[in-house]
Amino acid sequence: MKIANRIGHITQGAGDGWEIYYRTREMIAAGERVLTLTIGEHDIRTDPSILNAMHDSAMAGNTGYAFGPGNRDLREEVAARVAARTGAETSWRNVVITPGGQAALFATHMALLDQGDRALHCDPYYATYPGTIRATGADAAVVATRSSEDFLPQERAIHDAVAADPRGAKTLLINTPNNPTGVIYPRATLEGIARAVTDADLWLISDEVYDSQVWQGEHLSPRALPGMAGRTIAVGSMSKSHAMTGSRLGWVVAPEPVAEAIATLATNTTYGVPAFIQDAALFALRQGPAFEEKIAAPFRRRREIAMRVLTGHNAIRVIPSSGAMYVMLDIRATGLTGTGFANRLLDEEKIAVMPGESFGAASAGHVRVALTIADDLFEEAIGRLASFADRQMDA
Ligand code: PMP
Repeated sequence: MKIANRIGHITQGAGDGWEIYYRTREMIAAGERVLTLTIGEHDIRTDPSILNAMHDSAMAGNTGYAFGPGNRDLREEVAARVAARTGAETSWRNVVITPGGQAALFATHMALLDQGDRALHCDPYYATYPGTIRATGADAAVVATRSSEDFLPQERAIHDAVAADPRGAKTLLINTPNNPTGVIYPRATLEGIARAVTDADLWLISDEVYDSQVWQGEHLSPRALPGMAGRTIAVGSMSKSHAMTGSRLGWVVAPEPVAEAIATLATNTTYGVPAFIQDAALFALRQGPAFEEKIAAPFRRRREIAMRVLTGHNAIRVIPSSGAMYVMLDIRATGLTGTGFANRLLDEEKIAVMPGESFGAASAGHVRVALTIADDLFEEAIGRLASFADRQMDA
């Protein structure tokens, strides 16, 4: 009796990058006070008004099987939101509702990749990206980015990544606003990506789950660039925009044949998303942009605290953060690796951050700070992190 090779192919025998997070949880379980700036989870819960909508829908009888690709009214609402935010024409037929953005990423790669295909994603990356690609049976390969270029993917690097293997590549996965770097891709970067994927005839998968967390500049969707709607699949989610991480509600916006393929996959995997969750999401989306701004406001404040407190510390370079609930710090001047820095900060200061190495080789020597604890505690944590970094320089 043997487990499928598929699972070994997903992990490639390596750790999942969350070792610091698991260690932090154990310390907290043992009664220690740890200031935890690791995962992208809000410090508020889902708004009671959304939970009431969920309750009302369930009590009204919406507890049976839900229709595979999502309720028509929710698909229409998502299409309207996407069209309003990105300027790209979008019909409900382009939208498939999924159990969260993660399931949307998986379904999209499943719909586009065959066994043994090669699929690209940028480095650094959200921790699940390579595993999600490999779960389809394809091989994952990176487009490297540089700290000195604010981790923006360059057109040249995409060409190089395609050419690095005789198989070429079939897809490229990007993420803006970006986790882990907090960077928002400017128009010129997206235009370079659009040229590169068009030249190499790749599908572009655009993870836009942080589209409501924009602190500076604006979020542009590559779907809105000329000629790109036919080769771009955008992934969205209620997790970050509405503090609904546990509700598992996301979506794919895709050309119709791709949307239909993803709906077929849903019928044979998830069976769709519970109708009362879909109704709660519909209610939440109808609260409009002001509601989303209210959810994003604490992260906006804490990003400002981080910028203020970290200015003038030679041991730290802050990657210019313009969106998402994270700031990325270049701590190479301390002489420590990201992993070394994060482990010692946890042991000596009881502050938990994620090592850059957890997100790929390109962010080695960096740490990611999540903006996810109350302002006063956040200011304390970031101040102590800066002093810790300064002391490494003096040592
Ligand atoms: N993409 C990115 C970049 C993320 O950071 C996350 C969650 N942290 C997801 C997708 C998945 O989010 P969810 O499944 O909750 O929508």
